[in-house]
Amino acid sequence: MKIVIIGNNVAGTFTAQNIRLLNEAAEIEIFTQEKYPYYTRVRLPELISEKVIIDDLIVFNEEWYKNKQIKLNLNKTVRRINPKTKTLELEGTDSLISYDKLVLALGSTPNIPPIKNAVKFRDEHKGLFTLRSIDDCLEIKDFIRKEKAKNAIVIGGGLLGLELANQINNSGLDTTVVEFFPRLLPRQLDMECGAMLREEIENKGIKVVLDAATEEILGNGSVTGITLKGGEVIDADIILIQAGIRPTINLAKDANLDTNKGIVVNAYLETSEKDIFAVGDCIEYNNQIWGIIPACMEQSKIVAASVLGLKKVEYLGTIPKNTLKIMGLDLTSIGMIDPSKDTLEQAPGGWDILKKADKKNCCYQKLVLKDNKLKGAILFGDTKAISYVNNKMEQDVDKNELRKLLELYIYKCQNCGKEYDEAMMEILFKDLPENFKCPNCNGPKKDFKQKE
Ligand SMILES: Cc1cc2nc3c(=O)[nH]c(=O)nc-3n(C[C@H](O)[C@H](O)[C@H](O)COP(=O)(O)OP(=O)(O)OC[C@H]3O[C@@H](n4cnc5c(N)ncnc54)[C@H](O)[C@@H]3O)c2cc1C
Repeated sequence: MKIVIIGNNVAGTFTAQNIRLLNEAAEIEIFTQEKYPYYTRVRLPELISEKVIIDDLIVFNEEWYKNKQIKLNLNKTVRRINPKTKTLELEGTDSLISYDKLVLALGSTPNIPPIKNAVKFRDEHKGLFTLRSIDDCLEIKDFIRKEKAKNAIVIGGGLLGLELANQINNSGLDTTVVEFFPRLLPRQLDMECGAMLREEIENKGIKVVLDAATEEILGNGSVTGITLKGGEVIDADIILIQAGIRPTINLAKDANLDTNKGIVVNAYLETSEKDIFAVGDCIEYNNQIWGIIPACMEQSKIVAASVLGLKKVEYLGTIPKNTLKIMGLDLTSIGMIDPSKDTLEQAPGGWDILKKADKKNCCYQKLVLKDNKLKGAILFGDTKAISYVNNKMEQDVDKNELRKLLELYIYKCQNCGKEYDEAMMEILFKDLPENFKCPNCNGPKKDFKQKE
């Protein structure tokens, strides 16, 4: 059986590895348009600031593929899939590649929001960039050096935008992050933690502009800045857009496979076409796309089994988990972190939030429960609860255990018995002003004692 995989990043490479683990005989061949074997995208921003070199990013070198008897074809772009004849066409050659089973691990590309002139400046390489690959990094680095760029704008205050802004700032450029939503990391944080993070980012010398819709990229020749809705102009010699991803669906769409936001798959990661499977950033399952490595890893096990006809495990989706990788900032966000009005309306009742906001020490911990099951968490500044949270997601938890974990206490007024439950309050007991009075009996703060 000949299995062909298009794409050799996390999803493609781990699918190949998992197939090989299950079957020693299958012929496995990978095609990728990139010129490097599997490398991690996670540390790409550090390539710009020269904290790492290309070799540091390579996860598996070509030797690894040879040892696993996986044929890796670098620099080969697939132009068309012909499901009827089970063949592929490559750019620059007429010869056809045949397959018995085909896995699409096509990944995603950076999303460019509808900003006037953005695509033009990006396509003309005139100072507007997105970041996805080693080659993008090399191009950005080269532009900064050649143009002696001094001011950078990063459009997008999500995880990748902030990590990129940090490394651009480390490279000595005056850096501004422009975010459409009213907080940083809009998908991972609530307003309160977003405000704490903003302060920390600004302490690093990065400017932050929130609630800001970029309307136009300015420039004559190369970029000179942006205009925000409302007319404000921000100057820049280089603009980087990190505003989400778009699954790569063109090949699948042209071959008449079901596509929507992504390539539509079922729980066995089968596409609408027999013997064609899809995995990783390019898929859409249950109306959802992921764009994170843990999802690719999980899916690559399931798709490997499916390809070999061993349909044992169904994909149930992956709980989103994100960690911000900026030195000195510990921040992890997992699952449901802000049961919004919508969620409460869809699934009312049973939601509980335990929260510790220690602004003085820049720590924020929030655990979200539904019917006593742990549904999500934000851990900022103090992430020692992380392994507990990882292990207990979607499981029943004991609120008292959680209080201990977060070091949250209940203080009781010795006069009237009124309790101050830190987990439910905006301010920790220690941070209450000295003239705080018991809301029930007006007794002084000193009459409150910590409950055992
Ligand atoms: C800067 C950056 C930092 C990130 N940090 C994190 C992080 O900290 N944690 C996390 O979980 N995720 C992170 N991600 C996301 C993570 O890298 C992706 O989820 C992951 O790379 C997806 O893997 P994939 O194999 O599905 O697709 P991709 O990595 O997009 O790879 C797709 C592959 O398909 C190939 N391809 C596409 N079309 C064709 C064609 N027509 N012919 C031939 N080959 C083709 C490409 O060459 C490529 O090899 C980060 C991403 C970036 C860009």
